[in-house]
Amino acid sequence: MNSEMPSPPLRGRLAPSPTGALHLGNARTFMLTWLSIRSRKGSLIYRLEDLDHPKVKSGAAQQAQDDLVWMGLDWDEGPGCEGALAPYEQSERTGDYRRALDELIRQELLYPCVCSRKDVENAQSAPHANEYGMRYEGTCRGVFESFAAAQAHLGEGRMPVWRFKSPEGRSTRFVDGVYGEQILSVADDVGDFVIARHPDGAGYMLAVVVDDAAMGVTEVMRGEDLLPATHRQILLAEALGLPRPTYIHTPLMVGPDGRRLAKRHGDTRVASLREQGMAPDQLVGYLAWTLGWGTREQRLMPADLLGTYDPESIPVESFVCLPENVPM
Ligand code: GLU
Repeated sequence: MNSEMPSPPLRGRLAPSPTGALHLGNARTFMLTWLSIRSRKGSLIYRLEDLDHPKVKSGAAQQAQDDLVWMGLDWDEGPGCEGALAPYEQSERTGDYRRALDELIRQELLYPCVCSRKDVENAQSAPHANEYGMRYEGTCRGVFESFAAAQAHLGEGRMPVWRFKSPEGRSTRFVDGVYGEQILSVADDVGDFVIARHPDGAGYMLAVVVDDAAMGVTEVMRGEDLLPATHRQILLAEALGLPRPTYIHTPLMVGPDGRRLAKRHGDTRVASLREQGMAPDQLVGYLAWTLGWGTREQRLMPADLLGTYDPESIPVESFVCLPENVPM
């Protein structure tokens, strides 16, 4: 890169999906994102990723916002403090996704696909953990003239998906802030991948790429389960001529079975801990301890960690939540 070129201002994002209450793992990732950006005087946006219609829960968006404020986190742009790039709710931004989709169609990089239901579901949500085990063989590549033709083939009640033609013979590479160098041939490992279910392109994979660019996001920090998806997002950004942010993936908090924290592991919701009388500085102190920072009993607010925050000290291992080490 030309050393004369000024680098864009540091901007990060908190991007909750209102599909359920925030649990300890989400809270820890958001705390790290806040620390990463605020410790370098960058700005933060809050983007609501509310495209996952059947799974969006009423009240969850407000609850997430309340939980984060309660924890001592803040942001500069987003719901409640509109900025120049509003709206910050993905459901209000579908025009942008449609335009990106049209551009990819124009470049003949997409095709409609009528394959399995599981792919359709994956297209709507962030592909957390165990998302693909099998490479897609390109069954529908070149089969349908249009999305409408694919839809007619399926008939009522089922929707085709849009797939992106992964470029053959090349790998994507990036250096993750925690996990180091990542190299993957998406064509060999994943095959042509699903970017959206909706005919207008409103699905996680495309939306997140379009929004990060439109909102000037220069640093993406999120859970490690989205590490593999990053390669696909890099391909989409390249195809659309969008800048590539830096990526930092954070270790997950998992249940005793090693799987990403979820309902089946018991109640680890921030809202429940609040109801049980936990104070924010107890929760933040606990979350810092799970990263290997300080003691379990310490009481801290995120701002207390700003002076000592060091991305190098984020462990790569997941934290295993056991009955004896959950906060209450
Ligand atoms: N909204 C996504 C989630 O709930 C995060 C997406 C991202 O950071 O790219 O996990």
